Amino acid sequence: MIIHLVSQAYRRRWCQPLHTAHGVWRWRQGLLVRLENDRGRVGYGEIAPLPWFGSETLTMAQDFCTHLGSVLTVEEIEGIPDCLPATQFALASALEQIQTITPVPRVSMASHCHLLPSGETAMEAWRPLWRKGIRTFKLKLGLDRLAIEMALVQALVAALPAAGHLRLDANGGLSLTAARQWLTLCDRLQAIPDRCRIDYLEQPLPPTEAPRLWSLAQSFSTPVALDESVATYQHLEEFCRLGWPGPLIVKPAIAGFPQRLRQIWTQYLPSLIFSSVFETNIGRRALLTLATEYHHYSDQHQALGLGGEHNFEDNWDSLTPDQLWACL
Ligand code: MG
Repeated sequence: MIIHLVSQAYRRRWCQPLHTAHGVWRWRQGLLVRLENDRGRVGYGEIAPLPWFGSETLTMAQDFCTHLGSVLTVEEIEGIPDCLPATQFALASALEQIQTITPVPRVSMASHCHLLPSGETAMEAWRPLWRKGIRTFKLKLGLDRLAIEMALVQALVAALPAAGHLRLDANGGLSLTAARQWLTLCDRLQAIPDRCRIDYLEQPLPPTEAPRLWSLAQSFSTPVALDESVATYQHLEEFCRLGWPGPLIVKPAIAGFPQRLRQIWTQYLPSLIFSSVFETNIGRRALLTLATEYHHYSDQHQALGLGGEHNFEDNWDSLTPDQLWACL
């Protein structure tokens, strides 16, 4: 089968710049790809790199697509090297759309997880989201003093309805002592009847501290989730093989071929949380298709790590892939 490839770069601006541990982020940049086979079937894909999470840079992806040229084969897509995981994901998911008929995934608000603002504003920010049907909220830890953040989490757990879920994400920034204090607090809060559920403490320590992460996961009843530790399929598979007891966050858009992820969940049946990396609707659709497949397979229904929409100045989140492609 001969496939025609066209790619287009995009750049979108956030309404509010995003403050991350790697500096201030004002623009989301990436590359959209369009594949068309000789029978006129079309598939879209998105390269949305996140280099500080281990993916290629946008320039590497662009150079590779230029080198591929405008006509390619299935074998060339399957042969994209592992150093280009976001490119693997984009071209392979576009190819899957050409080869199989997948319905557009439908996801209810109840299956989204929404990031709350840090500090006191979190105490009110969840209410309008709750009215929209969102039940799972995430809070970033390690941005203020430990005692202040612990008081906030206690107040939030007391305020949220019992049907709510809270996820705490430390992005690898806690000391071992602080991680133990957090898990002790979470276990204590979970023992109080009719309180919202604390789904997990996410990545309390950096990936370099794997033995301590194992020890934490085995010492408390609140689950410890891994994110930065499982950024590549190689690491994800390693933790699955060793039987990690908590949820594993997967960002398919920067992790590689979707087929590799299917092999991992079929072999190990891990508890996966699908997470986005600020993709457009094209990348998001591929992510949701994969997440829907996993949820059917595993019968697990944990909320997805989504909720970054409506943060950009453009209207792209309301467009279909065809419309988005045409407006670039
Ligand atoms: Mg995280």
